Amino acid sequence: QASESNRVFEVLKEEVKAENLDKQVKVIMTGCFGFCEKGPIVKVMPDNVFYVEVDEASARKIVKEHVLKGRIVEEKIYKDPKTLEKIPEQSSIPFYKKQIRIALRNCGKIDPENINEYIASDGYMALAKVLKEMAPEEVIDIVKRSGLRGRGGGGFPTGLKWEATRKSKGDVKYVICNADEGDPGAFMDRSILEGDPHSVLEGMAIAGYAIGAKQGYIYVRAEYPLAIHRLKIAISQARQRGFLGENILGTDFSFDVDLKIGAGAFICGEETALINSIEGGRGEPTVKPPYPAQVGLWKKPTNINNVETFANIPPIILNGPDWFSSIGTEKSKGTKVFALAGKVNNVGLVEVPMGITLREIIYDLGGGIKGGKKFKAVQTGGPSGGCIPYEYLDTPIDYDNLNALGSMMGSGGMIVMDENDCMVNIAKFYLEFSCDESCGRCTACRIGNKRMLEILNKITEGKGEMEDLETLRELAETIKDSSLCGLGQTSPNPVLSTMKFFYDEYVAHVKDKT
Ligand code: SF4
Repeated sequence: QASESNRVFEVLKEEVKAENLDKQVKVIMTGCFGFCEKGPIVKVMPDNVFYVEVDEASARKIVKEHVLKGRIVEEKIYKDPKTLEKIPEQSSIPFYKKQIRIALRNCGKIDPENINEYIASDGYMALAKVLKEMAPEEVIDIVKRSGLRGRGGGGFPTGLKWEATRKSKGDVKYVICNADEGDPGAFMDRSILEGDPHSVLEGMAIAGYAIGAKQGYIYVRAEYPLAIHRLKIAISQARQRGFLGENILGTDFSFDVDLKIGAGAFICGEETALINSIEGGRGEPTVKPPYPAQVGLWKKPTNINNVETFANIPPIILNGPDWFSSIGTEKSKGTKVFALAGKVNNVGLVEVPMGITLREIIYDLGGGIKGGKKFKAVQTGGPSGGCIPYEYLDTPIDYDNLNALGSMMGSGGMIVMDENDCMVNIAKFYLEFSCDESCGRCTACRIGNKRMLEILNKITEGKGEMEDLETLRELAETIKDSSLCGLGQTSPNPVLSTMKFFYDEYVAHVKDKT
């Protein structure tokens, strides 16, 4: 939409009609292809030709030349900036070559507003398979053996979470999809919801069957109007076709999904705050334990996973746990979707196998640093993560390696910085975000982060002293240790990681004033 793709879509439809092709040729709006840098994108099927940076004029030409006469519109084919080779096929373009698209399998492929297209791509087959062939415990066993870990940030094993909720006592249980994506620069969940909403509904229904729940909620932020629109359509279509509601597919399993629209508070991405918000209370975290698997929504056992986690479930069921666990590293299986942003040539959304290196993502998929500048650092994990410098570019990405570097996987934000970026300012940006988004419940987070921000302001204004750096570090450690929830516990990470790897920049700021 931001790149005028709606207009290109209208022009394509007009041209197809004007050429009397509307009986043979269908123009469909898909979800995001991920290659934001080169949008709007038009793909002509079954020829498998991928056009980039399409505008109104080239959209008309694609219909008149390619669709009508079979001649490829050469000037709109992707051109590799290194080799100058023209590459018509999506999968051969360097941006896509190393990607394995599981959660994003249907994004850019199907019309997300048409359930038939999802069904034609094996949609709801996994749900049918579990309902007809498997006991709930078998489903949980498959998810456990797949090695899938929560894609929302924490990385907790999904199968164990499902098992804990199943084992919790109670007739009423709930499934919640956390779609309250709020990290600056992150848009993985939004893309899945906009491009393939049924995959999330199907994953939730399978979770409902596995844990013994009849009701699911998707907590989605109000800032995602297109995702909400498409989810509403998807829920309605799934109900009409018998994939949601009473006696799904003629079995005695009933499950339905409702939407809850969040009001944009970052803290509502924390699961206990999210539950409070659905119940109509303030979006504030509560002390854990008890965990939602024991005492969750309306005090009932509740399983919460994020959008990407649910989107992985149907292919795991259909292809088996060994297929999924054959991708990735020893402790982090499968793929991860990252929103690649910042000073990189190809900004966009990528889905890569766990274990790929940061260098491969930034240079092979991302095409290197904008303007030929030097790479300085990459920030992963949003305001909870940290900045990783050049020396660690060859680190294979997985949950544990990123944690060991003082950063984290988070939900998948990845912001690249070049040689001109000031790392103290970057840390300040994230800390400002955490200060704004703190719910204020506990002192360390509410007041400690503000004191840290004051020190950072002092330093960047050239008024800092060397002892301020020590105070900053002490405060950061105290906030990490004494905050109630993940937001507070991780909010000092950007400061700590930049102090660890770019301490000289802090010192330079302090010394600059003299
Ligand atoms: Fe609220 Fe911060 Fe405490 Fe979390 S750590 S409960 S966001 S004040």
